[in-house]
Amino acid sequence: MTGLADPCQRPVNYLRISVTDRCNLRCIYCMPTEGIRLTSHEALLTYEEIYTVAKAAAELGIDKIRITGGEPLVRLELSKLIKMLAQTDPIDEISLTTNGILLSKYAAELKSAGLRRVNISLDTLKPDSFKYITRSQYKLSDVLQGIEAARSAGLNPVKINVVVMSGINDDEILDFATRTIHDGWHVRFIEFMPSAAVSTEAPQFVPVSEMRKRLEPLGELEPCLPGVGNGPAKYFRLPHASGTIGFITPISEHFCFHCNRLRLMADGKLRPCLLTDYEIDLKQPLRSGIPSAGLKQLIEEAVANKPLRHHLNEGHIPKDRPFSQVGG
Ligand code: SAM
Repeated sequence: MTGLADPCQRPVNYLRISVTDRCNLRCIYCMPTEGIRLTSHEALLTYEEIYTVAKAAAELGIDKIRITGGEPLVRLELSKLIKMLAQTDPIDEISLTTNGILLSKYAAELKSAGLRRVNISLDTLKPDSFKYITRSQYKLSDVLQGIEAARSAGLNPVKINVVVMSGINDDEILDFATRTIHDGWHVRFIEFMPSAAVSTEAPQFVPVSEMRKRLEPLGELEPCLPGVGNGPAKYFRLPHASGTIGFITPISEHFCFHCNRLRLMADGKLRPCLLTDYEIDLKQPLRSGIPSAGLKQLIEEAVANKPLRHHLNEGHIPKDRPFSQVGG
């Protein structure tokens, strides 16, 4: 194993794989109001093709994989893919980002296939706001059941991702934080990122500094180690809390200089950054029978073109795809 590193010497050992661009929710900040043009089933990478890419990436030094979407649990037989990836050396951690709606159905099956842990996106604890934010017929209780199912299946730690939006859910920061004290939740507050593809109903950005101010009534935040995972969040604990609070600051304090990620999208495009339009197509080469050495060269090319940092703050917003397609 050689290990991948970009031209700035950042090690790249983490691959996020979006298995579908379909989602059972229509979150106001993630999906355009009119929906997206969906990739046809034939144009999606098959599980075998995803596995071929992951195996080549693993031989180059990728050892962590996160499955995302769209909503990954709407793709049939996801546990089959998890099982294939879990048996691939040196991949030692497979995790999943999900909206949790279908998790009560699949948590145990995913765990036995080799999934280690899950991040669940949940932006509100109020049933009415859930309806408004997700623009769907699903219920908050579906997600809460999914969280419990993940915990019972041993997919620990379950992390709850909350995108904080002014006037929409910023009045719930204390409620989420209280769950870290009473229910042992691991909550991560995420700054909203603008996306050119989602212009209508764009929520107002709330910086982490403001979120921290709102938490003051609950006591002093004590810094702590992340426990599991090596993502961009900074973690803290409130007095007497068994759970943790993480803050993710893509805007107010970007963490690009520590970025270790590549992103494979459901249509076979490989991106070296969430916030770039640069991508390399792997599907056509895969379907033309590219040998593993050629595939590895394409992966190395993506890494070689990893941008140093994003430029959202200077108004450079990637144009073509919403986060629901790239994988968030
Ligand atoms: N459907 C899955 C889910 O809901 O977690 C996976 C895909 S979703 C695109 C992945 C993550 O991206 C979610 O945690 C979501 O909150 C986050 N996300 C989407 N749009 C975002 C935005 N504009 N700013 C910050 N995070 C965003």
